[in-house]
Amino acid sequence: MADGTFRSGAEQGIFPFEFLEYGRSVEGVPLRYLPAKKEARLLIFAGIHGEEWETTFLLSRALRKLHALPDYVACILITNPDGVLRSTRCNANGVDLNRNFPTSNWSAEKVLSRLVLEAPRETELSPGNAPASEPETKALMELIQNLGVKKVVSLHAPFGLIDSDSSTELSKQMESIFALPWQSGVGYPTPGSFGTYAAEKNLECVTVELPREAPEILAIRYAEPLAEFLRDFTK
Ligand SMILES: [Zn+2]
Repeated sequence: MADGTFRSGAEQGIFPFEFLEYGRSVEGVPLRYLPAKKEARLLIFAGIHGEEWETTFLLSRALRKLHALPDYVACILITNPDGVLRSTRCNANGVDLNRNFPTSNWSAEKVLSRLVLEAPRETELSPGNAPASEPETKALMELIQNLGVKKVVSLHAPFGLIDSDSSTELSKQMESIFALPWQSGVGYPTPGSFGTYAAEKNLECVTVELPREAPEILAIRYAEPLAEFLRDFTK
């Protein structure tokens, strides 16, 4: 089965690849990733916000079009499994992991989020008791360091945009795959975010905010071009 061929349009019903464990969640759920077949040069992760499980669905659908692991891309389907199991943005400690990274602007202030785009930003979450207080945060940092990747794509929803510090070849590829506009920043402060952490560590990070669509629509639109990107990425 893993003969390196790519049948355009075909999608496997089962998940054909084996995961490796890179840590445990607060509740002891294994944190797992898919290694690159040759050498990881890019990490793409989904599901750091547990209520954005369409990111996991789309990445799974893209990977299931492949008959071998990508040569140079490592993948995480669920970065916050306790959150996905609860369908909450936060982890089991009530921490927004995307505000828990050890950045120069990390803040102990409550994180204010909104339940839907139309709601006021008044739902309170914790940024953690300290920077990198959460096992999911620490494990992701260690994995990136151990893999030695310099580029990361972070999948979120539902703003419908491509966000990176500057426009790069990678951000342009994401604009092309997702047919979404690029902008720098999401329009409100995000202290302790993965994107800020990446910038301070000289990692190139592109955040993909999927549009507000049903998972099936996202898969129909994006699984094929995302699969081709994963398969063909070299640098
Ligand atoms: Zn998110």
